[in-house]
Amino acid sequence: MRSRLLPPSVARNGVARKVLVFGAHADDETIGAGGAISLLSDLGYEVYVATFCWSREGDWSDTGYARAEWKSSIAEMRRSEALEADRVLGVRERFGFGIPTQGVVNDRATYQRAVELIRRVRPVAIFTHYWEDKHRDHRAVSEVTEEAWWKASESVLVDLGEPWRAKALFFYEVFELFTRPTHICDVTATFQRKLDALRCFKSQEPVLGDILGYVEGLARARGYLIGARYGEAFLRSAFMPARLEKELEALEDAL
Ligand SMILES: [Zn+2]
Repeated sequence: MRSRLLPPSVARNGVARKVLVFGAHADDETIGAGGAISLLSDLGYEVYVATFCWSREGDWSDTGYARAEWKSSIAEMRRSEALEADRVLGVRERFGFGIPTQGVVNDRATYQRAVELIRRVRPVAIFTHYWEDKHRDHRAVSEVTEEAWWKASESVLVDLGEPWRAKALFFYEVFELFTRPTHICDVTATFQRKLDALRCFKSQEPVLGDILGYVEGLARARGYLIGARYGEAFLRSAFMPARLEKELEALEDAL
């Protein structure tokens, strides 16, 4: 049971409660985990988002425009849409790697940027793409970040910060779905906020069609698995094992 004396943003051991959500494109994290992001923010977590194909400044050669006349303005559109969605969901800060869309590859430089960011944020848990997604950028992000989770915890690459071991990594689903998710988050309380955040991504409306209908249908199906109205599904990575006794302690806390 959490001590009532601690503010919600601080864990029992005094460490700040943070999560880091990786995504290829601005809107992926909202489609896959927007309800959970908003819920965790409500619970006092500091939520950080890292988007590989996005940048806070400059033009990162974004190709995600559906209309030719948006070519010169798409970077600015996607920048401001993401920041607006972050305000809706309660994201503390969004980082961008400035990689062109369809250009994410698992190379040394990209891998080390992910390691550096994990060490800088020091999250208790990491969220990232599912490795079976159709989109090449999603698959590359999944591969890079799962391995970076491990490498960030090792006593190597000292120039990239102090080693940090996040306790768990969870994949979220976008369009390719898990056969057997390990976790469902009850997002009933934050689902409308997730829809509001999705509405911020106006440049993606011609690309994604009835995304609000898709997200609602999937949330109903995932919520059904735990008896909730709306849910989001996650799959826990087995790349680094968890400590059994700690897991049991958490289960006892939940009794
Ligand atoms: Zn994407």
